[in-house]
Amino acid sequence: MSLLYIFAIPALAAAAVLAVAPLRRRLISDRLLRVFLGVMPPMSPTEADAINAGTVWWDGELFSGRPDWAKLLALPKPTLTAEEQAFLDNETEELCRLANDWETYVLGDMPPQVWQFIKDKGFLGLIIPKQYGGKGFSAYAHSQVVMKLSTRCSAAAVTVMVPNSLGPAELLLHYGTEEQKRHYLPRLAKGLEIPCFALTNPNAGSDAAAIPDRGIVCRGTWEGREVLGLRVTWDKRYITLGPVATLLGLAFRLYDPDGLLGGARDLGITCALVPTDLPGVNIGRRHFPLNAVFQNGPTSGTDVFMPLDWIIGGPRMAGQGWRMLMECLAAGRSISLPSSNVGMAKLAVRGTGAYARVRTQFRTPIGRFEGIEEPLARMGGNLYMMDAARVMTAGAIDLGEKPSVVSGIVKYHVTERNRQIVNDAMDIQGGKGICLGPNNFIGRAYQQVPVSITVEGANILTRSLIIFGQGAIRCHPYLLKEMLAARETDRAKASRDFDRALWGHVRFVLANGARALAMGLTGSHWVRVGADVAPDARRYYQQLTRFSAAFAFLADVSMLVLGGDLKRREKISARLGDILSLMYLSSAALKRYEDEGRTAADKPLLDWAIWDAMFRAQNAFEGVISNHPSRAAAWLLRRIVFPLGRPYVAPSDRLGHTVARLVIEPGAVRDRLTAGCYLPRQENEILGKLEAALEAVVAAEPIEHKVRAAQRAGQIAGEDDESLWAAAAAAGVIDAAELARLRRAAALRDEVIRVDDFPPDLALAAPSRHVPARRVAA
Ligand SMILES: Cc1cc2nc3c(=O)[nH]c(=O)nc-3n(C[C@H](O)[C@H](O)[C@H](O)COP(=O)(O)OP(=O)(O)OC[C@H]3O[C@@H](n4cnc5c(N)ncnc54)[C@H](O)[C@@H]3O)c2cc1C
Repeated sequence: MSLLYIFAIPALAAAAVLAVAPLRRRLISDRLLRVFLGVMPPMSPTEADAINAGTVWWDGELFSGRPDWAKLLALPKPTLTAEEQAFLDNETEELCRLANDWETYVLGDMPPQVWQFIKDKGFLGLIIPKQYGGKGFSAYAHSQVVMKLSTRCSAAAVTVMVPNSLGPAELLLHYGTEEQKRHYLPRLAKGLEIPCFALTNPNAGSDAAAIPDRGIVCRGTWEGREVLGLRVTWDKRYITLGPVATLLGLAFRLYDPDGLLGGARDLGITCALVPTDLPGVNIGRRHFPLNAVFQNGPTSGTDVFMPLDWIIGGPRMAGQGWRMLMECLAAGRSISLPSSNVGMAKLAVRGTGAYARVRTQFRTPIGRFEGIEEPLARMGGNLYMMDAARVMTAGAIDLGEKPSVVSGIVKYHVTERNRQIVNDAMDIQGGKGICLGPNNFIGRAYQQVPVSITVEGANILTRSLIIFGQGAIRCHPYLLKEMLAARETDRAKASRDFDRALWGHVRFVLANGARALAMGLTGSHWVRVGADVAPDARRYYQQLTRFSAAFAFLADVSMLVLGGDLKRREKISARLGDILSLMYLSSAALKRYEDEGRTAADKPLLDWAIWDAMFRAQNAFEGVISNHPSRAAAWLLRRIVFPLGRPYVAPSDRLGHTVARLVIEPGAVRDRLTAGCYLPRQENEILGKLEAALEAVVAAEPIEHKVRAAQRAGQIAGEDDESLWAAAAAAGVIDAAELARLRRAAALRDEVIRVDDFPPDLALAAPSRHVPARRVAA
């Protein structure tokens, strides 16, 4: 009886306090609000703009601990219109034929006729609506075009990508005045203007909001009249298309010291459109970014006067530049680098898969060695998942989303996985990948990867600061509400709002902790997926639901323990971001499997990608838990997240073997995996040669087996392949057609393993001098 009193009385008292809102607020919530205010990190207006920009999409579901899989599977599969498909099949195919990496490298630029083709065919206006003379393509179509170009010529891909990404056209579309739109958009769409966007300053790269470039509101003379304008001074570097731009999108901080606009003195970052023929604008010099020849260089100007209505959106948008940039960032970042990096990866996988089958050492195709199978499997699995994420994210943009956190996820993870793929391709190709020239298809990609890693939010920064940092605040169902309540100046409202968010949050944390523990103890077998999913992929949905609950719980405990310090604990934040990202990538891969009709032949690719992601996510969980500053929290977390230990293992060798075989085997799986890759039909181009060689080598394999069997049986003999084949033909082991097939395979194999050589002074520009040592067999 007395025991009952001991437990029941405090429990009833606590329940009474929690049930009576005013009491609960006064005794608990208001006190916690004061603590919250103390630990909440200060947020500058530029940080707030970055955090508030864009929309929360599937990332919000993953943060909820209970992703609604039916919602994911109901998303429409992105498709192309007939016009978009025709543009890919004709204009894009033709541009690929006209421009390649090696020639543009030798020339230091794309040839003038290629530039003209790009402008005339509307490549620079893919995202500009038809009413302004553009193509009005979907984000998915835009992505397909950039991806295809990236399988062929990085200069062409970047030149097309930049004007269609964050830059003048996108900013004008969203914020331009009608007059600005009517003047510039048709000119941009037709290629009459070459745009660039200049934000980066030598002193402000990652910390772009700190640009020292400045504009002063002042009076000045413009076309013979005194007008209100801006005197702008800037020093920018790394600006893509800058050296050839006719229209400079310029970001600078605007000040109004004399109060001429009637507002604040420091107005903030402002974006203007400046024709580059304006006296005082310096452009033309070039950087040389890792041998890439897309146009990139510095621009500067000192006290250059321009009218006020050159501000994008006119004077009313003075000081709104940072918000504009952050709001537009999601779309461009979701498309440009994910698409170009998937393109590079497709080229690497298609070409290297073929090479690994064609190249033999120790009388065996190198792709059949276990040591090579490992990177081949990684290449196939990574590409399957990267492409899935690219397509799903482009689809989100077409649905009207501006998924800012997701854009950071795909930018970071697709470029990092491409780096892995290209490195693997280099290792597999050995010296063939190292010696540059027209017969090397991977060396230029190897040089270009660091550019993708660095631009549009350098990767270390994106992983350490942005993905979880922004994700936690934006996607969390309660955190932003608590922060907004804490900032509320009306104290009564603050108390009410905070109380509501706080107790919702408490229930959320407890529910996720309990569910994570239950799913950990039961191996997630009883998780209801709640959607009609492929039976052979059902377990993956269950596991991801477990990850989602465990992640939400871990994130909350980490935020509770670390508070504002989490912002500085970048290693913890990065690993939390990794878990969120891996769940996103896995969702995309599962969606792809469904959208592509649950094709059983592709299943090993899905399996590899998901097992790898689960294993990596487990390591990221472990990294957060074992480095948690609170040992008590670490103890609790480990018991809730991994109550029975760590169950996930890396993809098995057997699975890796299956995936590697798919990568080196011509056929539908390889074609689907590398769909959209430009495939030159000519055998005097390296990829065309490789395709032909692969086909010929595969066709010759059974014939070779027959010859070897006859040799082992003592039926025929020969000193080398040719004499052995001749003997086999003479003995009737093979017929004349088979002999011809063996010879063709050998000739093509000989061609693809060759590398280029040059005169001693490496005079690459002399066309006659960089012809490969041997020509392709007929
Ligand atoms: C080829 C090329 C094309 C470009 N095109 C354009 C363009 O068209 N327009 C334009 O305006 N800019 C352009 N840029 C600039 C690009 O956006 C910047 O290079 C990028 O923002 C990084 O700045 P940074 O190079 O000065 O590196 P830094 O800012 O000096 O960063 C160096 C390293 O520190 C890391 N880092 C920085 N802060 C943190 C942090 N808080 N936590 C963890 N790590 C951190 C970064 O991730 C990076 O690894 C281009 C750059 C290149 C190389």
